[in-house]
Amino acid sequence: MRASRLIEEAGITDKYSPQKAANTDPFRYHLIGDERVYVTGDSRSQPFSKGGHTAHSEAQYVAEVIAAHALDRDVHWRSPQTMCFSAVDIEPLRAMSIITYYKFDQRTELFAFDRTHLIEEWDTQGGQASLAWAEGMYRDMFYL
Ligand SMILES: Cc1cc2nc3c(=O)[nH]c(=O)nc-3n(C[C@H](O)[C@H](O)[C@H](O)COP(=O)(O)OP(=O)(O)OC[C@H]3O[C@@H](n4cnc5c(N)ncnc54)[C@H](O)[C@@H]3O)c2cc1C
Repeated sequence: MRASRLIEEAGITDKYSPQKAANTDPFRYHLIGDERVYVTGDSRSQPFSKGGHTAHSEAQYVAEVIAAHALDRDVHWRSPQTMCFSAVDIEPLRAMSIITYYKFDQRTELFAFDRTHLIEEWDTQGGQASLAWAEGMYRDMFYL
């Protein structure tokens, strides 16, 4: 899935990226050569899941990076978290899910999945967990 056209219009695309992602530092998210411009979410350069939950968890880290930069401080890199529930049945509610983080492999210089927890069986416990997860997300996003 390609990055936002805004990245191209701004002339900040990584010329080697088939998805036309931004040319950014993979740990600090700022544009290479300009620490006043940050790109996160679906237009990021790293191969993390293009999902709402990933973008949400990553945005909290990027906000910390920007605040730290303004204060001339540093922040340790933190992986985004990807948590995805698929409610596959409604009566009764049943869901399957995946939770994963990412790690950087120094040898290959690539990101890989880390601490992945996959539940492929549809069950009602998963269904209830999906509701609890959604409630937590709504509280977090809308300060309920
Ligand atoms: C059909 C569909 C279903 C999905 N379902 C799921 C799901 O079930 N679970 C899940 O986790 N993820 C899902 N996703 C993925 C999820 O929506 C994205 O990963 C997430 O929204 C990325 O967040 P973002 O902030 O990077 O980008 P976006 O949410 O796309 O935000 C970018 C914003 O920038 C704005 N913008 C663009 N250009 C300009 C411009 N020139 N000037 C000003 N503003 C501009 C856009 O209007 C938009 O509001 C789905 C995506 C699609 C398309």
